[in-house]
Amino acid sequence: MWYDRREMNKLVVVESPTKARTLGKFLGEEFKVVSSMGHVRDLPKSELGVDVEHDFQPHYLIAKGKKKTTTMLKKAAREADLLFLATDPDREGEAIAWHILEVTKAPKAQRVVFHEITEEAIAEAFAHPRELDLKLVDSQQARRILDRLVGYQLSPLLWRKVRAGLSAGRVQSVAVRLIVEREREREAFKPQEYWEIEARLQKGEQQTFTAKLVEKGGKKITLGGKEEADQVVAELKEADYEVVKVEKKERRRYPYPPFTTSTLQQAAVNVLGFSAARTMRVAQNLYEAGLITYHRTDSVTLSEKALKEIRGFIRKEYGSSYLPEIANRYKTRVRLAQEAHEAIRPTKVELRAESLEAGGDEKKLYELIWRQAVACQVVPAVYEQVNVEIKADGYLFKVVGSKLLFDGFTRVTGGAGEDKGLPEQKVGDKLSLVELLPSQHFTEPPPRYTEATLVKALEEEGIGRPSTYAPIISTIQGRGYVSKEGNQLRPEDVGIVVSDLLVAYFPKVVDLSFTARMEEELDEIAKGERQWVPVVAEFYEPFAKDLEKAQQNIDKSSVTTLEETAESCPECGKPLVVKLGKYGRFYSCSGFPECKFTKPFIETIGMKCPGCGEGEVIVKRTRRGKIFYGCSRYPKCQWASWRKPEKEGEEDEKEPPQG
Ligand SMILES: [Zn+2]
Ligand SMILES: [Zn+2]
Repeated sequence: MWYDRREMNKLVVVESPTKARTLGKFLGEEFKVVSSMGHVRDLPKSELGVDVEHDFQPHYLIAKGKKKTTTMLKKAAREADLLFLATDPDREGEAIAWHILEVTKAPKAQRVVFHEITEEAIAEAFAHPRELDLKLVDSQQARRILDRLVGYQLSPLLWRKVRAGLSAGRVQSVAVRLIVEREREREAFKPQEYWEIEARLQKGEQQTFTAKLVEKGGKKITLGGKEEADQVVAELKEADYEVVKVEKKERRRYPYPPFTTSTLQQAAVNVLGFSAARTMRVAQNLYEAGLITYHRTDSVTLSEKALKEIRGFIRKEYGSSYLPEIANRYKTRVRLAQEAHEAIRPTKVELRAESLEAGGDEKKLYELIWRQAVACQVVPAVYEQVNVEIKADGYLFKVVGSKLLFDGFTRVTGGAGEDKGLPEQKVGDKLSLVELLPSQHFTEPPPRYTEATLVKALEEEGIGRPSTYAPIISTIQGRGYVSKEGNQLRPEDVGIVVSDLLVAYFPKVVDLSFTARMEEELDEIAKGERQWVPVVAEFYEPFAKDLEKAQQNIDKSSVTTLEETAESCPECGKPLVVKLGKYGRFYSCSGFPECKFTKPFIETIGMKCPGCGEGEVIVKRTRRGKIFYGCSRYPKCQWASWRKPEKEGEEDEKEPPQG
């Protein structure tokens, strides 16, 4: 057993002080637990650090600010008889462990892996230590090197061809591409007008209800414009309304599986308004405090022990009628589930959010995780659904009523929905028409991505992994390629220019299926089915050729052109174009470089400056791409605002209509 070697001096290394404290509580006095404070080594900042001539050998340095930590680790390792590497249970954790081993050169080291920091899991892990898994380390190393090659070699190209200071990443660029393409779909979208007609109906003196027109002459009805709708309304006014079908059935609503990283991030955006990065930060705190299982996972499996505890809790708290006969088991959908083998769940189901000693964010996220994990083991909610069809001469109306019969899992999560009651009806009932309600609508363009839908898309396309969703989303915003408008992700001009450049010159780097395949190859390295050097080489050789071509062929002037305009150059008469410059958009002559004419691009909102009353309010952007409002008389007038100024009293200033 693991505690038999009590006389030995054992050192345990983890990556954070909080985790060290939590772990320390469960280990005996012969264990000394220290923190590496994250990575101890990394590639250099100032140079590529990868020898592309010699099998991509990486050149690692002690990470910035880690001198003291590594000295401490080396000393502690020398004094210990045995070193346990207890970093997080995924590839990055394995890589951190390997670096620690490389730095300390401890002669006797073992790896311990656990997915929750609880007494039982820790005892189990230390009872079965293993060797470091170099396949996992290689996979992580290959990812790091691929990202480094792309990042460090594309960036200088972007500095020369687009704008200084830019940087591009491998998977991030694919995410930006998705957002840019969605924006183009939206711009190209032409809204179509359509009309809907509802009828408020009544049987005798009963409560009125509203049914929707769905068919004419047995076919789905579509109404394109007002005239058409008016015509139908006129006919419906004269029609006789009769119930032709009443169908009652039971409908079951099932709970969702317990959270994976991806679904947790999506729910936290939608329910709590947390960004993916904030969710991961808070989840990290909960994990390190021993409150939840490891939060980087794509598995929806729950351990037998967890199932037993959750089922016991449900029986005790809600009663047996809420408990399915056998536990609900969910299948992990992702093709190649990574190493972590459980969903995200509370480590102790008895522990409720309100009794946690934790911050507000931690309590909120814990509650979300708790509900999902408990609800997934509860029976479905049951509704009685009534479908009623009403004939009105050649037209058919439909209405659906719904009543909750048993709340099931919604007892835990809430959200059972309101009952939608309908008066009792039977086939042959005559109804009287109270009123017809025609309404105008327009088809909507595909919505912009939110952090939630982007995470979902990345997962579905196979181009993200539990450890990468949040960093991808933070990076594309941090680099100014994408900004948030409310919770929608909108591409900035620089994001559009860089994305178009990459699509044109590095089609593979931003290709969805190629990137997905790359992720699979990293999985294959982790499983020992492939070696990392050939995988990197296969990527790098064509990439290096593309890079050379791009350096020669990209014309800075044309890649930075955003739009054509109808305006002519006052100097040479050629059309003006809108270009992306160092500080955003400007007008340039399409005859550049022969004609050097430029003028500032001013986006107005048709309003006088609230500061001076003379200048125009203009839309400006910070270097990061965040929109703000300023005065056209700047620097004479210093008025500026993050918020779009209200057009106060605008109505009063308008002249009254004449005649
Ligand atoms: Zn010109
Ligand atoms: Zn002003």
